[in-house]
Amino acid sequence: MTTISIRNASVLDVAEGVLGDTTDLLIVDGKIAEIGPANAATTVDHTVDLGGRVLMPGLCDAHVHAIVPINSFAQLTRWSPFYTAIRAMPILEGMLMRGFTTVRDAGGADFGIARAVAEGLIPGPRILYSGKALSQSGGHGDMRGVGETVHDGHYYVPSLGRVVDGVDAVRAAARDELRRGATQVKLMVGGGIASYTDPIHFIQFSRDEIRAAVEEAEHAHTYVMAHAYTDACIRHAVECGVRSIEHGNFIAAETAAWMAQQQAILVPTLVAYSTMWEEGLSIGMPPELHAKISPVLEVGSAQLEIAASNGLKMVYGTDLIGPLHRHQSLEFRIRREVLPAAEVIRHATCNAADLFNMADRIGHVRDGYVADLIALDGNPLDDIEVLMAPEKLALIMKEGRIFRQSV
Ligand code: ZN
Ligand code: ZN
Repeated sequence: MTTISIRNASVLDVAEGVLGDTTDLLIVDGKIAEIGPANAATTVDHTVDLGGRVLMPGLCDAHVHAIVPINSFAQLTRWSPFYTAIRAMPILEGMLMRGFTTVRDAGGADFGIARAVAEGLIPGPRILYSGKALSQSGGHGDMRGVGETVHDGHYYVPSLGRVVDGVDAVRAAARDELRRGATQVKLMVGGGIASYTDPIHFIQFSRDEIRAAVEEAEHAHTYVMAHAYTDACIRHAVECGVRSIEHGNFIAAETAAWMAQQQAILVPTLVAYSTMWEEGLSIGMPPELHAKISPVLEVGSAQLEIAASNGLKMVYGTDLIGPLHRHQSLEFRIRREVLPAAEVIRHATCNAADLFNMADRIGHVRDGYVADLIALDGNPLDDIEVLMAPEKLALIMKEGRIFRQSV
């Protein structure tokens, strides 16, 4: 049994958006066993005195791609899976050291890398992986150029997605990803930026194909997340039972209100566009893909206002790739410019836990919850920037294991 006492913590109630009085916590074997004044008679293995600093749940990012580089989407399929995993290691460590203790990988990461992190072989956040995203021929997961015919679809060829056409093939692929432990199924239901043959307004997969994936996910007690930019793509997916809409930049107000009724969730990924626009070319993004960012960038952060004013639940996502991961926390600033701090904090904590079907385990600082905790030099309700400066993280704990302690 390993016990850690955390003293003098001002616990942030993320659901209510209020800071509690200073208290103590007892962590036993990776879980929060007790919140309240420490018992002097209890012996512990380690003590952390926060001196009144804010303690909050570890952060969640619902849209990452741990293994996808920016300069070679297509080349990824020529890489060794070992090389790909080793390149992902500093990316995963960087996420954890920014305070992200749980991430949902939206395509590319698999059971191997998630297991390596879970076993403590490499530092990183808990990875909720989709395996390979399902894409139709010519869809956002099909990285062939127009002159290419052959696609190496072997499972151990690293890639963002796998190409499947037809209801039976989609059903089989969804079952296969779930067999490999995918925590959700990822579909590409519309065009995207990082693919060569599909403008973003293309609608992808037939309704029956999407419904087949949704049915398989639901049978496995999980859900489908879908890449979709335009309002038509969003409707196409949610009408077929998709629960998590990724990006969703062009969502209309009526669709946002309707999605809220359907209990679907929106995962904007705004930081990806400004950073890719500014830095993409210099770090090797093909110019024809870089040009596809412009219309998405033009709609800006309007979707945040549309979603919030129509009661649509949102979750924190970033969708950064390769060296752009260092901007992961910038999404907080982008959202804070439109929304109250307490709401933005919910995106990265309790709302994410709801989306992940983990609301009874993560996303709050509560008795019995997993000890994913960060402590801050400052109050994020007053100044969201404290979440953006890794040096202001006084404590980073994942499942009771301390990865940083500067107090
Ligand atoms: Zn996407
Ligand atoms: Zn993505």
